[in-house]
Amino acid sequence: MTKQSILMRAVFAVTLISILAACAAKLSAPEQPLRLYAFDCGIIEVLDVSLFQPGIGEGERKTLVNTCYLIIHPEGTLLWDTGLPDALVNTPEGTTLYEVFVMRVTKTLAAQLKEINYPPEAIDFLGISHMHGDHVGNADLFPQAMLLMQKEEYDAAFGANPNKFGFNPTAYPTLHSNPVKKLEGDYDVFGDGRVIIKRTLGHTPGHQALYVKLAETGNILLSGDLVHFTDNWVHKRAPSFNFDKERTVTTMNEVEEFLEENQATLWIQHDKEQNAGIKHSPAYYE
Ligand SMILES: [Zn+2]
Repeated sequence: MTKQSILMRAVFAVTLISILAACAAKLSAPEQPLRLYAFDCGIIEVLDVSLFQPGIGEGERKTLVNTCYLIIHPEGTLLWDTGLPDALVNTPEGTTLYEVFVMRVTKTLAAQLKEINYPPEAIDFLGISHMHGDHVGNADLFPQAMLLMQKEEYDAAFGANPNKFGFNPTAYPTLHSNPVKKLEGDYDVFGDGRVIIKRTLGHTPGHQALYVKLAETGNILLSGDLVHFTDNWVHKRAPSFNFDKERTVTTMNEVEEFLEENQATLWIQHDKEQNAGIKHSPAYYE
């Protein structure tokens, strides 16, 4: 064997070993953890809770919190719901809607995102549970984000009569120009099964929830408005103003099975008592 061919064989062997080592490292590398932040996206004082549980608690008040979330995945960022409009921060006494909801914002979503160095332009995907004003309030901060929405919700929000569904187009003036992926079922956002939009119809025509699998914290389902507070979840009650009340209850029962099968916890976005036990941004869950 010539000196040259020995050298070439050596070079080949070293190259092969380093390729194999790189492959092995990739195979055994642990998945980069997901991170989940919860934001204070306002407060809603309900002046008659029986709206949410027909025939029960007529004339009684109930405070609902309003929560938005940011998911940091190695492949991108997903904001889940955009809350009440940040502009409400300028009306500390609150703004009344339909004579029954008094809404307040004390911290803007924009400021909370900036605080953790994810300003609005750093958001890749916008997941909106549904198009009611307390979930879509700051959507115009994210014109670049890919909107992920069930087709029925999109059609209702941008169709001929959005008011029929309780949607107010002045709450989402620029959203129609966002890039959009219209969904017709569940959707695995990053393709690895860790962040999945769940089609959960009933509250609105194309309502959806968000399933997140966190390495340390466990599996969580962010409710959207599938349910507004724990008592209604326990008793499977649907608000009088829901798009399809029967469908809501069917969905609740399906979701309850899903939670059991996946050992997942339901985080009810409007539930004040449950949210008091959840750490909010800048703290986070992994
Ligand atoms: Zn809501």
